[in-house]
Amino acid sequence: TPPQPSTFGDTPRPPLRLSCVVPAYNEAANLEAFLPALYDTVRALAVDCEIVLVNDGSRDNTAAIAQQLGQQLPLHYIELARNFGKEAAMTAGLDYARGNAVLLIDADFQHPLSMIAEMVQLWKSGYDMAYGVIADRAAEGTTKRWGTRLFYYLMNKDSRFKIPENAGDFRLMDRKVVDVLCQLPERNRFMKGLYAWVGFKTVALPFVPDQRRSGESTFNLHRLLALAFEGLTSFT
Ligand code: UDP
Ligand code: MG
Repeated sequence: TPPQPSTFGDTPRPPLRLSCVVPAYNEAANLEAFLPALYDTVRALAVDCEIVLVNDGSRDNTAAIAQQLGQQLPLHYIELARNFGKEAAMTAGLDYARGNAVLLIDADFQHPLSMIAEMVQLWKSGYDMAYGVIADRAAEGTTKRWGTRLFYYLMNKDSRFKIPENAGDFRLMDRKVVDVLCQLPERNRFMKGLYAWVGFKTVALPFVPDQRRSGESTFNLHRLLALAFEGLTSFT
C-alpha cells in the first residue's frame, strides 16, 4: 500500500531551537531594552534561543551596544558594509540563523513580544509559518491606506498564489521554509512575495502594532513606492 499522506500536524516536533533575526538600522536606543526583553520572552517559553542581530549600516552606536549585550546574551552580530535595506538585512540574518525555526522581528517594539508564545504553539502543532497581519491601519494616513489597497489589488490580480494583505515580516518559520527562502536566487528580494511564493502550511495572526519605542520609521513614501515597484516587477 502507498504510504499514507501525512495528516496535519501528526509528527511531533523536535525541541525548538529558535533563532530570532532582528534587522536594525539606527536602533541603538531600542536595542538595549529590546534584545534582553526578546531573550527573556523566548526563554520564558522554555525554548532554546539565539539572537541574530543584523546591523544594516547604522550610523549610531549599535556596534558598541551589540558588543556589550553579547556578554550577557547568546548574540550573533552581523554588520552589513552599508545600509542595504530591510529586505537584504533579513536575508543576511536568515542565512546565518542555525535554529530549527526562525523568528523575524523588528527592533523597535512594534511587533508585540506577547505574540511569540502563540507562534511557538502553532509551530508545535504543525504549522510551518505563523505570521502577523496588521488588523487595524486606522493610525496610518489615508494616502498610505489607499496606496496599500491598490498595491495588493494589483499584486494579487490573476495570481496563482495570494500575497496576504497587510501581512508583514513579523513571523515564525520552520527550518524547511527558511531553507527554501535561502535557496531562492533573487537578488532584489521582495520578502512578502517570497514568503507567499514558497507555500507551506501557514496561519495568519491579526495584531495591532505597538508604538515605535524610540526613533522614527525610515519607510517614507519614496521608500514604500520603491518597495511596491520591486514587488510589482518581481511578482506580476
Ligand atoms: N530596518 C533595516 N534597514 C533599513 C530600514 C529599517 O534593517 O534600511 C529595520 C528597522 O531597524 C526595524 C525594521 O527594519 O527593525 C522596520 O523598520 P521601520 O520601523 O523603520 O519600518 P516600519 O515599522 O514603518 O515598517
Ligand atoms: Mg517600525
